[in-house]
Amino acid sequence: MKNAMSKLYKWAVVGAGPAGLASAGILMDLGVKAEDIILFDPKFNAGDLGTCWGEVNSNTSVDLFLKFLTEIKSFQFEKHTTPFPLEQLPIDDFCQLKEVAKPLAFVSEQMRKSVASVQATVDKIEVKQGSWSLTTAEGIYQSEKVIVATGSKPRTLHYDGVSEIDLETALKPEQLKEAVENSDTVAVFGSSHSSMIIIKNLLDAGVKKVINFYLSPHRYAVNMGDWTLYDNTGLKGKTAKWVRDNISKHSHPQVERYISNDENLNEHMSRCDKAVYAIGFKPRELDSGDIPLAGYDKTNGIIAPGLFGVGLAYPQVKKDPFGNSELSVGLYKFMNDIRSVMPLWLEYGL
Ligand SMILES: Cc1cc2nc3c(=O)[nH]c(=O)nc-3n(C[C@H](O)[C@H](O)[C@H](O)COP(=O)(O)OP(=O)(O)OC[C@H]3O[C@@H](n4cnc5c(N)ncnc54)[C@H](O)[C@@H]3O)c2cc1C
Repeated sequence: MKNAMSKLYKWAVVGAGPAGLASAGILMDLGVKAEDIILFDPKFNAGDLGTCWGEVNSNTSVDLFLKFLTEIKSFQFEKHTTPFPLEQLPIDDFCQLKEVAKPLAFVSEQMRKSVASVQATVDKIEVKQGSWSLTTAEGIYQSEKVIVATGSKPRTLHYDGVSEIDLETALKPEQLKEAVENSDTVAVFGSSHSSMIIIKNLLDAGVKKVINFYLSPHRYAVNMGDWTLYDNTGLKGKTAKWVRDNISKHSHPQVERYISNDENLNEHMSRCDKAVYAIGFKPRELDSGDIPLAGYDKTNGIIAPGLFGVGLAYPQVKKDPFGNSELSVGLYKFMNDIRSVMPLWLEYGL
């Protein structure tokens, strides 16, 4: 293995999805030199938005995506020559996530022109000789501080005799059509934005019946002027409208809904041929020795001295004016959350 230990970076960012890119960009906006930052990702494909969830309708407006792209000055977004389709859309509209992935890929390319980048997975992080050591197949790298922005993967369940349709397939209408038969009864677990899109996709794909198991009632996001009630968990945009028309106000004849308890699962799962588990996400694993990444401080992203978490895997918790707490998820929120904690992180080393 190549030993890349000769240079000590000030900041290593693990993962170049939106949260990792924002972290590197905000560090540079705050005056950290590009040559002091190193960015790791095995794909440099702007994270999961385009590759996994491209055909999902966004739950945040075009305006917020554009603010994310333009407010981080070090992204140098103004350097693109041909406008992206995202920029042609009305700013209050929602869009398919693939429209966001394209400008993010541009930003990723731009960032790689300034900071050091290694196209590899970081397999292990640990403290060695007074700094953080990051092990990859390309070599071992040293940095004073590390930001982990590795994203999350879908949680899943298993029921004997019921074959699983993975979340990525369920959120891609054309692939889903190939994965189901007209005679199928399909269980969908969850009541989130994604679960509701999946129910619609299954009906569009022509399945016989959808049985939805949920733990809590729907929540609709409500615009309260300068803040949004249920901003992170509530249904929005086209999805909210579809759910109001087909589930909340009138029950779609091909959809049955049950609270997810043992009694209902015993009674109804045996009727299902296939199942989609839209039950949330868990952080991607990364070997950090005896430091539990999951124990991060949800108010400020600190995992350990000089080690911080951001993005979908390590969201910050926010309270609304009614005192309701939610995890703060979305590109625009990641940007604001990273900005708010960065002055602290700059001071909080090993
Ligand atoms: C279905 C769905 C819909 C969403 N809709 C919206 C929306 O409308 N608006 C919005 O703002 N947000 C939305 N989000 C939330 C969030 O903005 C996205 O999930 C976003 O992709 C999260 O960015 P991230 O950088 O945290 O993680 P990711 O996009 O997952 O990026 C993580 C990166 O880390 C890399 N990586 C992982 N492990 C390692 C490792 N060990 N070493 C090096 N690199 C590694 C991966 O290759 C990847 O590039 C949605 C999320 C989902 C799941």
